[in-house]
Amino acid sequence: MSGAVEEGSAEASSSGTAVIGGGLAAAHLVHELRGGGYGKPITIVGDEPTIPYERPPLSKEFLQGNKDIVDFQPFPEEWYAANNIQLRLGTSATSIDVAGKSVALSDNMSISYETLVMATGCRSRIGGRAANMSGWDLPGVHTLRSLEDSQKLKDGFTPGKQLVVIGAGWIGMEVAASARAAGVEVTVLTPDEVPLLVPMGAEFGAHIARLHLDHGVQFRFGTRVEGITLDPEVGLQVMTQTGGVAADLVLLAIGAVPNNELAERAGLQVGTGVLVDAQLRSSDPNILAIGDIAEAFNTTLGRSLRVEHWDNAIRQGKLAASTILGGSESYDWLPYFFTDQFDLGMEYVGDRATDDEVIVRGAMADGGFIVFWTRHGVVTAAMNVNIWDVNDALRGVTGKKIAAERLADTSLDLNTL
Ligand SMILES: Cc1cc2nc3c(=O)[nH]c(=O)nc-3n(C[C@H](O)[C@H](O)[C@H](O)COP(=O)(O)OP(=O)(O)OC[C@H]3O[C@@H](n4cnc5c(N)ncnc54)[C@H](O)[C@@H]3O)c2cc1C
Repeated sequence: MSGAVEEGSAEASSSGTAVIGGGLAAAHLVHELRGGGYGKPITIVGDEPTIPYERPPLSKEFLQGNKDIVDFQPFPEEWYAANNIQLRLGTSATSIDVAGKSVALSDNMSISYETLVMATGCRSRIGGRAANMSGWDLPGVHTLRSLEDSQKLKDGFTPGKQLVVIGAGWIGMEVAASARAAGVEVTVLTPDEVPLLVPMGAEFGAHIARLHLDHGVQFRFGTRVEGITLDPEVGLQVMTQTGGVAADLVLLAIGAVPNNELAERAGLQVGTGVLVDAQLRSSDPNILAIGDIAEAFNTTLGRSLRVEHWDNAIRQGKLAASTILGGSESYDWLPYFFTDQFDLGMEYVGDRATDDEVIVRGAMADGGFIVFWTRHGVVTAAMNVNIWDVNDALRGVTGKKIAAERLADTSLDLNTL
């Protein structure tokens, strides 16, 4: 069988629920399980040395020095001990024996399970679109996924230093904002004509570009990175098709890759992530997958999707607990996410397609506005920018057919739409 556990490994704990990956989804899963009266053993195997924490502050408040690790741990360390959750931190799961229902660990131990939950999340992309890039492993070149990554990046934030951010997605733009707050000079390189083009489209991308330009961020649009070099005389240089860009620090922010390999080797069905049904069960009924790694069937959208966002990790952790406890709830909510950059905060709900019609309610230049996306007159997604306590109303209109004039009419109460 593929993914068999190595011979000679010692048994470390007995059945119950084992979770691979000690991130946000895992934390909410085990919290909900114990809250729901689950009395069997629970073990979390996490390769990071820390108890579960939230990642959004790593590019925002923690990077800016405004939050400490204890401020973004969903549950304190004592909670795990008090609730008899065994934490095997600093330990990787190396293979799964699906027939024997056990997981081999990097410390040469193994754990058995009745139910296994895969919650291995993503890692930073260092290949992909930039697959030919050389020099990503040079000193001074960073990626950002873990607390350790964020700390290392923060250590390099000295006023006047030059940070070159490769990629103008969420993490790239959030780090650009945090670096400016620390007095660091920032240049963002992107092959696109605006930041956030793929997730948000050209109009909002142009708004984000203006915001960053106003705060001193420089952009090189239409720029393809060919590699990074380190010369003792010149320092770091990010090489592009039009020449080199000098840097003291480089952040490679070109997306994330789901940690699917363990599931693949165990023979589970994997698409862009581990394929699971609406109750988050994989092709093996004893194994569930949650969070960034799960490509789950959404009953509202009628298709499977993989979502790399905070809200989804929390909700899927709770839903998996319900499934294990015998509940019949299903994955039926719309994707939601948020960002904070400089004085802009926004929340998005829904599932826009890149060619959906864009309707802006209010004036982008005023700073506070709402964007709707529609397809054949039906709202597919909505976003509130610097306007608060309206996201539930926006969630409520998503999926409804509403005339564009009504959506754009600021004199109409959102709740009456
Ligand atoms: C810098 C940053 C900023 C973000 N900001 C936002 C934001 O503003 N808004 C938003 O909605 N979302 C944001 N996100 C996304 C959000 O943090 C993720 O969607 C969420 O963390 C996913 O939770 P998870 O539990 O699925 O995975 P993770 O939190 O990534 O946890 C997975 C854990 O599993 C571990 N692991 C992997 N393989 C193994 C193995 N074989 N054995 C043991 N352990 C393993 C990993 O090391 C990791 O600790 C951000 C992410 C990052 C990195």
